Amino acid sequence: MQNEKVAVVTGSTSGIGLGIAKELAKQGCNVVLNARKQSAETDQLCNEIKKESGVNVMFGAADMSSADQISKMMAEVDKKFGRIDIVVNNAGIQHVAHIEDFPNDKWDQVVSTNLSSAFHTTKAVIRGMKDRKWGRIVNISSAHGLVASPFKSAYVAAKHGMVGLTKVTALELAEFGITCNAVCPGYVYTPLVEKQIDDQAKSHGIPRENVIKDIMLVHQFTKRFVEVDEVAKLTAFLCSDAAGSITGAAIPIEGGWVAN
Ligand code: NAD
Repeated sequence: MQNEKVAVVTGSTSGIGLGIAKELAKQGCNVVLNARKQSAETDQLCNEIKKESGVNVMFGAADMSSADQISKMMAEVDKKFGRIDIVVNNAGIQHVAHIEDFPNDKWDQVVSTNLSSAFHTTKAVIRGMKDRKWGRIVNISSAHGLVASPFKSAYVAAKHGMVGLTKVTALELAEFGITCNAVCPGYVYTPLVEKQIDDQAKSHGIPRENVIKDIMLVHQFTKRFVEVDEVAKLTAFLCSDAAGSITGAAIPIEGGWVAN
């Protein structure tokens, strides 16, 4: 159990991030849910997790593409709980286009949300983690942090960058009881993937079923989507004491995709 620990999970009001926040709460962590803005829906999610797990739940509003908003949110969390023990960098977006047509602003948005955000949250927690000689940083990268696919230049670059950031963070902090690892999921059925199914169906001019079978799951040898719960449980393990010697790793959870 992780009683008293405080975990910030970015982009955690849907999909994988929400699954991770719920799992960490189940393990006894106080959790901070994050999205751009607080709303009736985010209040309800916080209350649900509080009720289910009996932990403290805080909402941290921040647009994760903004360094200023991230540093403000992290300072608010530190003020409320007096510590941040675990950070899961999960917020992410996708944009699919040929490089020659890729809008510059989309490139900037994907790189700042998916990669620079992890640098800013990590920078904000290191001193406290070093003082307490314990910390866990998990970067939710992707199978696309290890291999490429066409039309996803910004996403693949950002997710590969995240694996690089993970390794540097791990080496710098290894002697302080702080680990940093990347989790690299294959396709997990979430709102982000739902949007990609439609985008790809349009760009390839094929039905949705074919996008799923012939594009998304073609390299996933299990021939099924990865479950949110599978990613959440792997992440929670990496955040536990038992994972203290795992650091700098980029761990695939992708049904065999990168083994091929
Ligand atoms: P999702 O769209 O359900 O969740 C992404 C979350 O990030 C959302 O809660 C969204 O509100 C939040 N977010 C996006 N931009 C933000 C911003 N600027 N500020 C604050 N929050 C922001 O998607 P998901 O599939 O759960 O993806 C979660 C992470 O997992 C992403 O980093 C994604 O790249 C990664 N991932 C997903 C898959 C997959 O197949 N679903 C596979 C590999 C990696």
